Amino acid sequence: MLSWDEFDTEEVVREAAKESARQDALNAAPVAPAPVQAIAQTEAPATTFAASSNDGSISPELAKARAALAQLDPKPGIEELEMGAARIQVDDKQMINCRADLNQLVPFKYDWAWQKYLDGCANHWMPQEVNMTADIALWKNKDGLTDDERRLVMRSLGYFSTADSLVANNLALAIYRLVTNPECRQYILRQAFEEAIHTHAYQYCIESLGMDEGEVFNMYRELPSVANKAAWSLKHTQALSDPTFSTGTPETDQELLRNLVAFYVVTEGIFFYCGFSQILSMGRRNKMTGVAEQFQYILRDESMHLNFGIDVINQIKLENPHLWTAEFQAEVIQMILQGTELEIQYARDSMPRGVLGMNAAMMEEYLHFIANRRCAQLGLKEQYPGAQNPFPWMSEIMDLRKEKNFFETRVIEYQTGGALSWD
Ligand code: FE
Repeated sequence: MLSWDEFDTEEVVREAAKESARQDALNAAPVAPAPVQAIAQTEAPATTFAASSNDGSISPELAKARAALAQLDPKPGIEELEMGAARIQVDDKQMINCRADLNQLVPFKYDWAWQKYLDGCANHWMPQEVNMTADIALWKNKDGLTDDERRLVMRSLGYFSTADSLVANNLALAIYRLVTNPECRQYILRQAFEEAIHTHAYQYCIESLGMDEGEVFNMYRELPSVANKAAWSLKHTQALSDPTFSTGTPETDQELLRNLVAFYVVTEGIFFYCGFSQILSMGRRNKMTGVAEQFQYILRDESMHLNFGIDVINQIKLENPHLWTAEFQAEVIQMILQGTELEIQYARDSMPRGVLGMNAAMMEEYLHFIANRRCAQLGLKEQYPGAQNPFPWMSEIMDLRKEKNFFETRVIEYQTGGALSWD
């Protein structure tokens, strides 16, 4: 059999031409329908019909495959690259509407994006690492939690179980192709995997606790306070997920910015914060510690998603100052205010009374504080002057590294395809 080095293109083309002529002759001849027995015989195992044999002859299929490779023209695959043979320079790179080759990761222009990719990988975790035994016992004990506490767990899993899928879909189907920078795309791919892990984590909690899966997963279409948040996010993915959408005009570039604000700043930066603080407060009180630990890891990932999104938006602003008009800034502020209002409605709905040392009024104050922070991160005026953080422990949890485990359960090693051991 020929090695690739010995591969003779001309010889292959000649072989293919001969084979093609033979096939043409066969096709031209009238062919009687083969009896069933004969058809069965032609479907003999592949071992009886080797692609090449010891005498050097090759099968028609292999000849056809080699002929196709001999015709391979590398130009069409790279014709969209207008740089030609020139090597990529840092200055060729830009966040959107970049014409440079996007398949070359280096030289880096945005070191912060690469660093976030490395940090995201360093934070890797899997839902099965978290011990859910105590949660299962508590959830199944009818006196284990109050009705108000049970509502928080159900609402959180109801919203989050589909919210991370909305974010993942937006990344893969809308944002990825429009952000024209390889180091940012590298982080987006890592983020997309993290969103899959988060959806897995919620599914793992729902399954472990024996919840009604249909009720939890369908909550985003049934319960108004959950449905409104999901609908608001979905509304902002519509234009971009149209495969014919492209950036390149001020209007379409602003449409991309709107999407980035809706998903990174509002969905991941505001809509997640009521549910996160409720579940983490529960963990601090030694209740549902497994669910809380899952949320702790998710929150750590999410705070990085948010910071990446803020950096991307600010970089686009820097490179395209004409997009960040006073009118557009007013629109972004409106989006942040709308998101905050929806999250306050969710807080009121999920906490009709005080629970776990929190209540809807405290959550409202917290969300005002969070909204101010989002405005400041984008260089916009804070909308709730003087708002204070009633839950300072939230920032503490966000900064935790994996090995310093807040809830004192610890996985001892990674395993693949099996259960994990606990110490
Ligand atoms: Fe996320």
